[in-house]
Amino acid sequence: MAGRDPDAGPASGAGDGMRVAVVGGGAFGVTAAYDLAVAGADVTLFEKGDIGSGASGRAAGVLYDAYAEDIDAEMGARALERFRRLSGTGEFTFTECPYVMLAREGDDDLAEAIRGAAGRMRVHDRDVETLGGDELGERFPSLQVDDVAVAAVARNAGWTDPGSYVATVADLAASAGAEIRTDSEVAVSTAPPGVAVADEAPVTRRFDAVVVAAGAHTKRLLADAGIAVPLKPYRVQALVSGRAFDGPMWYDASAGAYARPHPAGLLAGDGTVPVEADPDEWDRDADDWFLADVGGTLRDRAGHDPDVERAWAGLCTATPDGDPLLGEVADGVLVAAGWQGHGFMRAPATGEAIARQVLGEREGVPQFAPGRFDGDEAFEISEGMAVDTDDGPEKGC
Ligand SMILES: Cc1cc2nc3c(=O)[nH]c(=O)nc-3n(C[C@H](O)[C@H](O)[C@H](O)COP(=O)(O)OP(=O)(O)OC[C@H]3O[C@@H](n4cnc5c(N)ncnc54)[C@H](O)[C@@H]3O)c2cc1C
Repeated sequence: MAGRDPDAGPASGAGDGMRVAVVGGGAFGVTAAYDLAVAGADVTLFEKGDIGSGASGRAAGVLYDAYAEDIDAEMGARALERFRRLSGTGEFTFTECPYVMLAREGDDDLAEAIRGAAGRMRVHDRDVETLGGDELGERFPSLQVDDVAVAAVARNAGWTDPGSYVATVADLAASAGAEIRTDSEVAVSTAPPGVAVADEAPVTRRFDAVVVAAGAHTKRLLADAGIAVPLKPYRVQALVSGRAFDGPMWYDASAGAYARPHPAGLLAGDGTVPVEADPDEWDRDADDWFLADVGGTLRDRAGHDPDVERAWAGLCTATPDGDPLLGEVADGVLVAAGWQGHGFMRAPATGEAIARQVLGEREGVPQFAPGRFDGDEAFEISEGMAVDTDDGPEKGC
């Protein structure tokens, strides 16, 4: 396609003459702003704090394409392609590292679910192998495998520092012509689409499109504009240990915890609290039970006695079916949220998808139409990383 920037999505010139507001300077918002600016749109990104000050700056940076459903696998692969291409730009680096998902002996349903999910991943051409405990131990001697019933090893995977991605892509977006406004909290309006900046004269700025990617605040922001979306913020937790770990990234589905190598030693997490959180009033510190639980899993699985340097919580967003909301909710107003703990690793692909939607592309553009819900659905929060054992919401193992 003429004028196409291989690092960005839509063709250069596709956005000429369009005015677009992006609300939220997380991984999603900066990617969408960059792609739209490269396409020629006149983009303003509004962020109420600093760039990356939401969930993106608190993410673990585990990246993979090991999804069992075709659209997820496709977006995971596209995101990894863009992460790799970007690596070495600014502070951003992508470190190749396999990702292991495992179930313990006695957890028959989970073991069966991992075998089934790995099979479906292979159907979608994902590079995923199924191993028994012994084979896993031979492959990765740093893991303790005596109690492992089955493992799936995804090779198209790696890790990064999420803050470096957000900062680098925000810089690229600015270089491509986007205006990046921090400390700019906005309210959203519809018909016509617009935003009003708090602390400014009460003027609504009109845009051809407004993309609302405000993370945990998305539901509230849209509700104030008269749009109901079924989203629930919930806490998840992570820690960094200063003790060295030389192994793959792993997710112990029986324990519900994961870990990856980190420049300081190791990063571990999960600690999902499946209760709706208030996006303005929530506990940013890790819970004692999380530190105790994840510490136990690290000792059992990797012989790693954590030397905790820091621990924290952040907010993810859940939807009734575990799939995101990615598309139009009113004329010219689009929403992008509900990533169930997988929003960072897919941001290069989902940001690209919304940019293409804004520019009117339809063919081959991933869609998770928000219109599949009324907006007032009652639902339980399901853990993002959980392996599906009953065909309920499951995203990516
Ligand atoms: C501990 C933890 C570990 C995680 N690990 C991973 C992982 O390994 N891999 C993965 O894929 N995902 C992970 N996630 C999930 C991931 O962080 C999120 O899915 C992703 O960062 C969401 O990006 P976003 O851009 O949609 O939202 P955010 O990063 O939350 O950005 C939204 C932004 O909108 C701003 N905002 C809100 N309201 C307004 C307003 N009115 N006006 C202007 N701006 C506003 C906020 O300040 C915020 O900066 C993790 C999350 C946590 C908390």
